[in-house]
Amino acid sequence: MELRFFNALIWDGEKLFRGELRTEGDRISYISPVSTMDYRDWDREIDCGGNLIMPSFKNGHTHSPMVFLRSYAEDLPLQEWLTDKVFPAEAKLTDDDCYKLTKLAVAEYYSGGTTYCCEMYGHTRAVADAFVDSGIAATVTEGILNFDGTPSQIEKRVDESVEYYSNFPARVRYGLSVHAQYTCSDDTLGAVRNAQRRHWLPLFAHMSETRREVGSCVKQTGMTPIAYLHSKGLFEYGGAGFHCVHATDEEIDIMASSHVAAVTCPCSNLKLASGIAPLAKMKERGVALGIGTDGAASNNALDMFRETYLAAVLQKYATNDAAAMGAQYVLSAATSASVYGFEGADRLARGAYADFVMLDLHAPNMSPGNDVLNDVVYAAGKHNVLMTVSGGKIVFDHGAIDVGEDYEQLRDECAAIARRIADASRR
Ligand SMILES: [Zn+2]
Repeated sequence: MELRFFNALIWDGEKLFRGELRTEGDRISYISPVSTMDYRDWDREIDCGGNLIMPSFKNGHTHSPMVFLRSYAEDLPLQEWLTDKVFPAEAKLTDDDCYKLTKLAVAEYYSGGTTYCCEMYGHTRAVADAFVDSGIAATVTEGILNFDGTPSQIEKRVDESVEYYSNFPARVRYGLSVHAQYTCSDDTLGAVRNAQRRHWLPLFAHMSETRREVGSCVKQTGMTPIAYLHSKGLFEYGGAGFHCVHATDEEIDIMASSHVAAVTCPCSNLKLASGIAPLAKMKERGVALGIGTDGAASNNALDMFRETYLAAVLQKYATNDAAAMGAQYVLSAATSASVYGFEGADRLARGAYADFVMLDLHAPNMSPGNDVLNDVVYAAGKHNVLMTVSGGKIVFDHGAIDVGEDYEQLRDECAAIARRIADASRR
């Protein structure tokens, strides 16, 4: 597939210019302020009409199949919500369900300009197949916890996963995650560390999401969760912590020196009353930032515009400083995937992945255009996405979604899955 986008305003991740972008296969083949003559037989030539082309969003933390629980049980205390509603419903999911539900999540990612996700869920092979079939880039992690078996079973499972995903297309890869410190015994963590050392794997995990989690870790181990994971040798190859709402100063320094990024999910943290992560302090001390949505059960939208906006404005509120967290810094975090080990999609450049979006600059909420990047962070929404290109393929085009199968039918099938599980849960 060869595409030509001309007459565009381009933000390549660093600078803003008027110009043209071309793709060949899954890569960008040309990007320049200069439109040279090229009478190629393009698969499509798109006059961007002065609209903005910029790197697509990269969703740093999600549980894609959880779309079936969107708005299913609301306004409950966190523990009751999890143990009475979420866990029993999840136990009824099949691999086929997760394949379909993941594709529905991808449809939502595409419609909101997202082309990568760092995933954590069960039924991982079905989820990974859905990613490959829909053309999104992803890091697939399984969220290991004590239920996964004895230490030797866990080590074997990681070995098998590394082998299994080595045959996958380069855009969908394996990542090692544990669910969280509080769901993993020392034996489980030891098995994970052994597997990490065999395969040089960074660690992904939920970290210090709630006060309750931090309190029980301190009671049990005398340490806070991030410090505890570090003490067990799990940050030897870096990684990323999801949420990190209650990270202490000591833990922020550990993250910086161990190359553990903080992936913030502000919507979920607000809705579950978890708190506001100390992102401004993390930035100051050199912790890399990623932004994610978390699952649809706790958010409830998989919308990176919302997360990016909140990541910026909540820091201003929390630090009592309107100058905290500039728009361009937050937007770079929201559009970068290298913090998750997925390289070549952070910036638009020749040879980089053709992962980008076209945003409507003619919409009322983007006018008069005093500062386009400020507009994207503070004023834009997913309704401004005109096109999404993932791996050189147009996957969202003025409302039409392409996840490799009929969208309307997929949506109906997913609604039937949600109904079936809700009915069974009432019995
Ligand atoms: Zn999560």
